[in-house]
Amino acid sequence: MATVEQPRTEVETLRNYIGGEWVASAADDALDDIDPATGELLARVPLSTVADVDAAAKAARAAQPEWAAVPVARRARAVFALREALWAEREELAQLVTQDMGKALDDARGEVVRGIESTEAACGIPTLLKGDTLGGIAKGMDVEMWRQPVGVVAAITPFNFPAMIPLWFLPFAIACGNSFILKPSERDPRTSARILELIDGIEEIPAGVVNLVHGAHESVNGLLDHPEIDAISFVGQASTALYVMERGTRSGKRVQALGGAKNSMVVMDDADLGDAVPAMMQSAFGNAGQRCLAGSVAVVVGDEARRSEVRSALAEAARDLPTGPGTDESVICPPMVARDARDRVSDAVDRALAEGAEMVVDGRERTNEAGALMGPTVVAAADRESELAREELFGPVLALLEVDDLGEALEFVNSSRYGNASVIFTQSGAAVRRYRAEVEAGMIGVNVGVPAPVAWFPFAGWKDSMVGDLHANGMDAIEFYTRKKVMTTRW
Ligand code: NAD
Repeated sequence: MATVEQPRTEVETLRNYIGGEWVASAADDALDDIDPATGELLARVPLSTVADVDAAAKAARAAQPEWAAVPVARRARAVFALREALWAEREELAQLVTQDMGKALDDARGEVVRGIESTEAACGIPTLLKGDTLGGIAKGMDVEMWRQPVGVVAAITPFNFPAMIPLWFLPFAIACGNSFILKPSERDPRTSARILELIDGIEEIPAGVVNLVHGAHESVNGLLDHPEIDAISFVGQASTALYVMERGTRSGKRVQALGGAKNSMVVMDDADLGDAVPAMMQSAFGNAGQRCLAGSVAVVVGDEARRSEVRSALAEAARDLPTGPGTDESVICPPMVARDARDRVSDAVDRALAEGAEMVVDGRERTNEAGALMGPTVVAAADRESELAREELFGPVLALLEVDDLGEALEFVNSSRYGNASVIFTQSGAAVRRYRAEVEAGMIGVNVGVPAPVAWFPFAGWKDSMVGDLHANGMDAIEFYTRKKVMTTRW
């Protein structure tokens, strides 16, 4: 495919990567990618069209059979070459994440290493891809099961983990012998573009095996409808996840769609607040609350004296939490992704106050030049069924609820429509045992604020936090990216 030359302007308009070439999108429109710490315009993001998606799908389809025929140990080496390239570039990738979406640098470093961890897990593909056999199911008759690639896989990813989430999917998909198209978030796609530049330099990964299309809704719809695409991996808001599942399956694709969350942190009356409060601060306010595992409701168990002790400890810690640009290494609560995101969350806090919620710490008093920063905010919920207590706000807001015992805490947690994560802080083995058995969520933390599974386990959201049945990472990734073939043989 020929590379289309564009006039160079000071701010780069990002290009798509299709069939091993960097090509300009056919789109007339582009969005601004802005550094939320400084307000600086970093790049223009083309709103790629259905024609761009079609070119990527054709390139991916053309490359896939030859890639699937590459011996699995050589595909493992190709993924290992990607691991080595990512590792060598990890600091630069973290800096890009911080610049593009505001995340504190240390957090960005952690995110990049998590993405590398998924790549490392995918290096085990020769073992992971093994099938099954059962000899002698009848006289002279054996049964074998092989795993073969699904074909062409597309991933549509959110803004909040621009390095890690593309890497939840890409390494596993190509290790299994699929070709791949990435459509990163239009808000912060420069990290993905850099990862694709690294792939462009890896000779073990042939042209067309991995492709990149920038854009927003039109390109997503193009991917969901395209007949040459066999599977969709999606992460984003719950409403978008449902939409992606419905539209993608309509054209016969397999779809895994990870959605939003509202995660509770239960603080039992025997919890050590010296450990629990810092962990809760990281969970609620790290990455400005823009994590699908963020603890956004503190459910405090205990009598009046304990409730007041916990409320004061959380308020004091939130007031003192370092806030500022992600490049400042001491910062825990950085700017949000953009001014419009901050405005949306601030409006939700106003609605909660109008419904009777009580302001404990108003972080909205803090902001930055780009208008994207909001300090840690703590609000005591008046109503357990309110938007504040039940819906994802995706910002640095911690709702407070008070209950009498663990049973009441479980009742609140389990009546959520979401089921991504849930956390308990306690020193009681009996409370932990009951919580782990009865809580309705897929990722559970015991004295851990952000219970993100390592890449050898599935990222296991339940309820509206996940549509579909196979999760990202772990053996679920292998199941999702392969089709089973069962052969019954008589000799
Ligand atoms: P989003 O749903 O707005 O966007 C995700 C992707 O979908 C983007 O690539 C976007 O271009 C596309 N998209 C959005 N709306 C669309 C539409 N109407 N039609 C077609 N395409 C559309 O999500 P976001 O704001 O980028 O990310 C934050 C959300 O992701 C939060 O809800 C968070 O909880 C969730 N999330 C979930 C997990 C998880 O593992 N469950 C992990 C990270 C983030």
